[in-house]
Parts: sequence; structure tokens; C-alpha cells
Amino acid sequence: MFYIVRGVAINIPNEFEAKFKTQLKVLVRQWADARKQKSFRQIAPDIDSLMSDLTVNAQKTPNPMLIEDDQTFIFESNGQSTSVAAKKKRRRSIAVVDSDKPSGLVITALIAEFNFNVEYFNNITELNERQSTHRLDLVLLDVLMPEVSTKHVFEFAATLNRSGIKVISYSGLFDFETRLAAVRAGISDFIVKPTSILGIIEKIKRVLNLQQTRDYKIVFIDDQKSMGEFYQTLLEDARCEVHFMDSVQAMFNGLDDIHPDLFIFDMNMPQVDGLEATKMIRQQKQFDFTPIIILTADEQIETKLSALQGGADDVIVKSTPPALVIQLLLTHLKRSLSVRESVSKDSLTGVLTHGQIMEAAMTNFRLSKRHKSQCAIAMLDIDRFKAVNDAFGHAAGDKVLSGLGQLLSRSLRSTDRIGRYSGEEFMIVLVGSTPKESIQRLNSIKDEFAASDFEFRGKVFRCTFSAGLADLAQSQSLPQAVNQSDQALYASKEGGRNKITIFDSIS
Ligand code: GH3
Ligand code: MG
Ligand code: MG
Repeated sequence: MFYIVRGVAINIPNEFEAKFKTQLKVLVRQWADARKQKSFRQIAPDIDSLMSDLTVNAQKTPNPMLIEDDQTFIFESNGQSTSVAAKKKRRRSIAVVDSDKPSGLVITALIAEFNFNVEYFNNITELNERQSTHRLDLVLLDVLMPEVSTKHVFEFAATLNRSGIKVISYSGLFDFETRLAAVRAGISDFIVKPTSILGIIEKIKRVLNLQQTRDYKIVFIDDQKSMGEFYQTLLEDARCEVHFMDSVQAMFNGLDDIHPDLFIFDMNMPQVDGLEATKMIRQQKQFDFTPIIILTADEQIETKLSALQGGADDVIVKSTPPALVIQLLLTHLKRSLSVRESVSKDSLTGVLTHGQIMEAAMTNFRLSKRHKSQCAIAMLDIDRFKAVNDAFGHAAGDKVLSGLGQLLSRSLRSTDRIGRYSGEEFMIVLVGSTPKESIQRLNSIKDEFAASDFEFRGKVFRCTFSAGLADLAQSQSLPQAVNQSDQALYASKEGGRNKITIFDSIS
């Protein structure tokens, strides 16, 4: 039976039809309830995410149908959160195909540590036999196999790619011809052996789009409000948070609070135009890595030239189809964030970025094993942060984040490593200390933070954080320690927040 959902035809096999109908009904009913407090726009990404899961699943045979583990979709309609249970975490499935069995098994075991479903196959035939019953997201494919030609391996990669499965190839050597053939086969990335497991995980996350740990922030200036609203809706579906303003003056008043990842300026505006705005932004060093995109109705080549010469990164004509505009913006965002990630600290909080703190944690995990030295790991999460954003605005929330980043940086030892793990979550590696020794230091930071007044536009408020500590030196692996500190953090939240828990004491 075919269903048309949000313009997409989905083939639902008969045996799943009843289940599908129930899921859809639950979703619609919950949406109706949630709608009393939320706009459709806030809920649309969740619906889209369900639909894309449905579509992907429905294209596979046999159809594994809907979301794993039978979870229903719950919109928490208490006004606090729009989270959807099923959207949370679906474990991605990865196949490792490597003719070198010992090395393939090691890689498989290491990837499994990072919460992926992963299976090892000795060759393509073995994978082919399993694949019909297996739902795969990604294949890590050894290019040099003894019994098949590289050409055949690439043909196989192309077949996988056509059925929507991503491929990362890996090999000891990549010459120009091999790289070209790989690109032509639709391979997403390469790994050159030997490489660190974190390097592999980073590539896997990038290819599967799991890397984005927070929403992109966009400042959008256009004197026409309708233009802003139109793109706002589209961009919010693509995990962007849009700060729309109708004049350049308004933007400069609020710029210190926003820390944008990208600017979009309309070219023609009455008082200060897009070109002037571009030049003003380009005079500020802190925006060196922030792309500026000019939107214009004017197709003249002179207009485009002057915008690019003025420091814009791209000029988009307003008649461009919206899907193309969004893709262009996302490409700029991804590229500039990956540049920033590799050269600088997190711009808002001044601490290490996600990739850097993971790297630091991994290094310290290894060092503590080698030297039998102490090392603790802490996960911090701001309490009821959504409520701060809701009550005082996002810019006020940002102020809290940068405040906490600064407090941590000045309170911890210079040997400790601090990073922004995701949106409002920090990870700390406490080098040379056990969790028991670290808890005292963290407790005094916690108390100082809870007693700090934040002021935003004349309003004063306070915030707290909760944390979980685990023993990195005693863990079997970094992911295990991260997981333990996460569980301890959860216990702190359950225990009433503004608390710090050590994993030991809950296990
Ligand atoms: P809990 O005590 O359970 O942690 O409650 P919470 O509200 O903090 O929980 P949750 O993790 O659901 O909400 C986190 C919020 O943090 C959601 C998101 O809007 C906000 N956030 C994430 N990144 C940023 C950011 O860069 N700036 C601001 N202002 N808010 C952010
Ligand atoms: Mg959180
Ligand atoms: Mg929180």
C-alpha cells in the first residue's frame, strides 16, 4: 500500500501497515496537543525526521519498518522541550570489509566502542550474503583485496552508493588514479592506513552527518521582513538558528551577544546597504572565519564583483531556487566551521572544541595507562538551560555559556583540559587527579557559578550546572569513561541538579 506523506510516496508492506497507521495517528494526536504551545515550524523538523526514517526504511527490502525498538513518538508538551523520543539516537550500522582479518577485527572492535553497530566481513562476497537482511548506513571498504581487482571493488562501492549506503575506502596507499576512481564510484572519504581510531571515528561521523553538535547561528539582515521569514522557516529545518534583523544598525547593536557562524546581507537596503555592512564586518578580526553571503535581486555582474571585492564569500541572486540557496549556505557553514575547528578554540566559550577535547581525552587516557597515572573525566551540563533561553533569550543563554567557559578556564589547573562537548555540555579532563580529588575542585566551581549573577538587558538571573565524574585511568576505553561520566551526570540531574556525582558511587 502506498501512502503519500508530506509529498513523498512511501510503500508500506502489508504486514507493517497496522503499525504504521498507529505510529502516524499517535504522532498526529501528539502534534495536535503540542500545537497549543508550539508553532508548526517548531515541530516540523521532528515530523520531517520521522518521515525521512520512514522513507529510507520503506526503500529497503525487507522493510525493517519504522523506528527500531518500537518507541512511540512523544512530544513533551510541557512547554519545556520539543524532543521526540525516536529522534534521539538510532545506532548507526557499519560494515568493515577487510581482507586482513586481524587488522579488520581490531578496527571493528574499536569502532564498536564508539556506540556503533559494527560487523566484520572478510570479503565482498561475505558482505553481499548478509546485506540483503542487514540494514547498513556505512561500509568501510578495503580497496586492495587479494582475490578481486580494484576495479571490481569500486564497482561494488558504486552499487552500495546507489542504494544509499555511504562508503569510506581505506588502504595503505592512494595514488591519483585510485582517488579519482574512488570519487567516480561515489566514495565519501578515504582513510590511509595506518591511522588513529579517532581519525576514523571523525570521518565516520562526518560522512554520516553526526558531527554537528549544535545548531548553526545565522545573522540575516534584510529590510523586507517577508524575505527573512521565508528563509527562517527553511533554515530552521536545516538545524540553523536565524537571528533576523531589518537593518544593519540593529545588527551592530546586538552583535556582541550573538557570535554568528554566518552572515546573510541583502544588497539593497535603504540606509546602510549589504556591501557597506560586509566591509564593516570584515574590519573585525573576530569574524575572519565567518562567511558573509550577499543576497541580491540584481543579476548585474558589477554588483556581484563589488560584493566579492568588498569581502563577501558568495553572492546569491534572489531568484535562485530555495533548495539551492540552503545547500549553498550549508556548504559555507560546514566548510568554515571545519576550518575554525582545526585552527581555533570554540569562539563562544574560549575552550577546546569537541574534536580537540576528544583528542586530548584520548591522549590522556593512553598516558595514564602507560604511566599508571591518575586521570579523571567530568561531564558538565547547565541545568534547565532551555528555560534560560526561553525566559531571557538566546543571547542571554550565550552569555551564560561564555561565562562558564571563562570560569572553568581560570579555575582549573593549566594541565587540565576543558572543551565544549556539545551545545551546553562541557567535558573536562582532570590530569593527575582521581575523581575523589577532583570533586572538591569542581564543587567550589559549582558553588561559585551558582552564586554568579548574570545580567542581561537590565535583568539579573542565576544558573547552576550538574556534573558527573568518572575515572579515566581505571576505564577500559575512552568511550567507556565518557559513558560512565554521562551516567553520573544523569544521576546528578535526577538527584535534583546543582550536584556532582562520581560514577563509583552509583554503580
Ligand atoms: P537539564 O537540566 O535537564 O539539562 O535541562 P536543559 O533545559 O538544560 O536541557 P536540554 O539539554 O534539553 O536543553 C539544552 C538547551 O541548550 C537546548 C538548546 O536550545 C540550548 N543550547 C544549546 N546550544 C546553545 C547555544 O550555543 N546557545 C544557547 N543560548 N543555547 C544553546
Ligand atoms: Mg543538555
Ligand atoms: Mg542542560
